[in-house]
Amino acid sequence: MKLQSVNPATGGLIAEYERHTEVDIEAAILAADKAFRAGRSDTPTRRADLLTKTAGILETRKEELAGLMTREMGKPITQARAEIEKCALVCRYYADNGEAFLADEMIESGKGRSFVRHLPLGPILAVMPWNYPFWQVFRFAAPNLMAGNTALLKHASNVTGCALAIEDVFREAGYPAGSFTTLKAGSDQVAGVLKDPRVRGATLTGSEKAGSALAGTAGGQVKKTVLELGGSDAFIVMPSADIGAAVDAGLASRLKNNGQSCIAAKRFFLHADIHDDFRERFLTGLSETVIGDPMDDATGLGPLVSRDACEMLHNQVSRTVSLGGRRIGAGQSLPETGAFFEPAILEDIPAASPAATEELFGPVAIFYPVRSLTEAIDHANDHRYGLGSSVWTTDESETEIAINRIEAGSTYINQMVSSDPKLPFGGVKKSGYGRELSMDGIREFTNRKTVAIK
Ligand code: NDP
Repeated sequence: MKLQSVNPATGGLIAEYERHTEVDIEAAILAADKAFRAGRSDTPTRRADLLTKTAGILETRKEELAGLMTREMGKPITQARAEIEKCALVCRYYADNGEAFLADEMIESGKGRSFVRHLPLGPILAVMPWNYPFWQVFRFAAPNLMAGNTALLKHASNVTGCALAIEDVFREAGYPAGSFTTLKAGSDQVAGVLKDPRVRGATLTGSEKAGSALAGTAGGQVKKTVLELGGSDAFIVMPSADIGAAVDAGLASRLKNNGQSCIAAKRFFLHADIHDDFRERFLTGLSETVIGDPMDDATGLGPLVSRDACEMLHNQVSRTVSLGGRRIGAGQSLPETGAFFEPAILEDIPAASPAATEELFGPVAIFYPVRSLTEAIDHANDHRYGLGSSVWTTDESETEIAINRIEAGSTYINQMVSSDPKLPFGGVKKSGYGRELSMDGIREFTNRKTVAIK
């Protein structure tokens, strides 16, 4: 079957792509391996120069690339532009800091001069999702190319246009053939790539199911993986917080990327003293959100990625309501065509309902009233996922308790969770393992070789 790109705002077919054959994939792996070997003697300065060039190209082509992204997966164009800018930022970040992050680590051992050196591993497979079609790829590619690895990208099947454009950006920047290759492949072709001995590791951002399948194959091959999977992040608001700021951040976090972000605030734990006030202001914010054509600069909320995604979310909400939950819609009318979904709050959440146990990947906020921080944290932790968390309080002891007790890869205080090249990013529990970005991210796929010279 061909790979298809469909515009979720209109339902129109954008393009169809023939998949790569096994012969094409073999050629791509061979090229990735050759490029890795040839690039092993590259200096950090040469690697940094290539990344800096890549950043410049992203900035020059921002409008074109942002438009492509919005057409393929529906994010508001203003957010698509910001995503391209962030990709340029992560390239410059590793160009500027990569050499220092990978410098030898001297260790006193009594065995002569001893140290750890960070050496690249080889071709790394990246299996990526459609929701941030550029950012997810660049946050993997920039550190790995800086470290001297080469990249094989298997992107989500519905954003092949973006995947090919990314390959083109690296080519234009002057990377040798094989340094970064897009595989036009379906998920059924992933295991074959991973089993190839020349491929030295894999990273996947996506669902728990896909991550578990990939890690299973990699485990059988004794290959390292990094997994960035789903989340149902807690957003806890205590009475001492600035409620206006918390509402604004909660809305921004829940609605960004049309509600399809792994680190979106999804479960809101609101102290009883501020619950009603927060709820009223949040509903007002939802009803004022501009829903429409994602290519329009004024749009705040575009369509979900596909009709299937709408149906899945609709099903999760309906099942929650049929079990006793309550849905409060924001009341806007939706465009007639396209995969649009009315933003809403869900409350009175039954314990075994989809809202309580699954990830809702769309503009639906789950509200829980709580009587204490401990109750909020216990409830927040009672979940399979542990990606991010956001806590709103001006009480220092509450801050400490939240940092120490919330089971998540990050806790942001008085701000929404957001990724930043300077900060490690990743999860615990079923949200995955390993870290991207920062110094942690560039070291994930390196051989920390121990050296002792007498
Ligand atoms: P999927 O897991 O369906 O797809 C992600 C990628 O994995 C795609 O390239 C897909 O290919 C591939 N894939 C799917 N099944 C397999 C398999 N069995 N073996 C190998 N590869 C496979 O997720 P979505 O694209 O629907 O993305 C949404 C999910 O991703 C959400 O749960 C979200 O929370 C999570 N996510 C996590 C992030 C994080 O940083 N932690 C960031 C963004 C999203 P194909 O398209 O061909 O099926």
